[in-house]
Amino acid sequence: MKAAVLHGPLDMRIEDVTPPALGDDDVLVDVKAVGICGSDVHYYREGRIGEFVVEKPLILGHETGGIVSAVGKNVKTVRVGDRVAVEPGIPCRACEWCKTGRYNLCPDVRFHATPPVDGTLCEQIVMPADFVTPVPDHVSFEEAAMFEPLSVAIHACRRGGVGPGKSVLVAGAGPIGLVSLMVALAFGATRVFVTDLHPHRRRLALELGAEAAFPGDGDVAAAVMEHTQGRGVDVAIECAGAEAALSSCLMSCARGGQVVVVGLSAQDFYKVPLNHLAQKELDIKGIFRYVYTYPAALDLVASGRVDVAKIITHRFPFDQVETGFEYAETGKDGAVKVIINL
Ligand code: NAD
Ligand code: ZN
Repeated sequence: MKAAVLHGPLDMRIEDVTPPALGDDDVLVDVKAVGICGSDVHYYREGRIGEFVVEKPLILGHETGGIVSAVGKNVKTVRVGDRVAVEPGIPCRACEWCKTGRYNLCPDVRFHATPPVDGTLCEQIVMPADFVTPVPDHVSFEEAAMFEPLSVAIHACRRGGVGPGKSVLVAGAGPIGLVSLMVALAFGATRVFVTDLHPHRRRLALELGAEAAFPGDGDVAAAVMEHTQGRGVDVAIECAGAEAALSSCLMSCARGGQVVVVGLSAQDFYKVPLNHLAQKELDIKGIFRYVYTYPAALDLVASGRVDVAKIITHRFPFDQVETGFEYAETGKDGAVKVIINL
């Protein structure tokens, strides 16, 4: 089968590789759509993210929609011909965190496109049957691929206690911030404010239902306080991976508020406004991927309550995968989410 194989920074080649072998509890998925994520771009450009280093050729991609073309003999829940969303992290199922239901924290998780585990920018992948979610015909392969970033947002909104009547600040309007905005609204938040550095991303946030969108390099907390009569928001979700954005989250929260940290940073340490944290009794919660979110992603997308297609700005065929990476990296022509179609 054909695969887009990364050999080193900026060296991706479409090559023939051996297709994976199907086990008794597995399904074979013909890959149809793969979203490009910021992490894929980092591996492509730098060959590493922190301690994860591309040491041998690696297939990138972990946001995947496809169609089942074979099933192992024990598989009862998925059939050949099912169109599926693929959950990319397969945990060990045996450790403390797997057994206590927080399998996203499994230290032995095998996550697509995280060295040394191959990703899905290839014609076929093998998955355990319980890590694919069948989708109805009116959900496209691209939308199925978007279940992955959507899952991050669902997990963030759950951990932040976003619900009916809540007010929310989403700091950073990249793909993750924009899906967090959409999920917060779908969860019943009545007021969602968004920040970003780029005017076109702020405009998109407004189109998607944000009440207001503020420049991330301005006085975000002052703008939030002005819109909330000095109270602040119930929940602030950091989706920028930036020190200033986290500070603005702490400063924009109401007393007793929840701060959810999704953004990852190349910086190991931030300076944060500590007195806001203590004096307002804020709770700070980290997010690592997601746990059991695909059923909710399916409901939100299939019912039309979250229109993930609205942030897909660019699509490229498989043989133009590197062009896709270029758009995803630079945000060229207003690119937000770039999809590779196979
Ligand atoms: P992205 O880089 O496309 O978007 C980040 C956005 O933040 C950009 O639009 C940028 O303009 C904006 N920004 C930068 N500094 C800002 C500031 N000071 N104030 C306001 N906005 C600012 O990234 P993405 O794909 O949307 O992902 C967002 C973050 O989430 C990244 O840090 C990514 O690594 C992280 N992430 C974490 C998890 C997890 O499991 N915790 C999963 C996926 C992504
Ligand atoms: Zn485990």
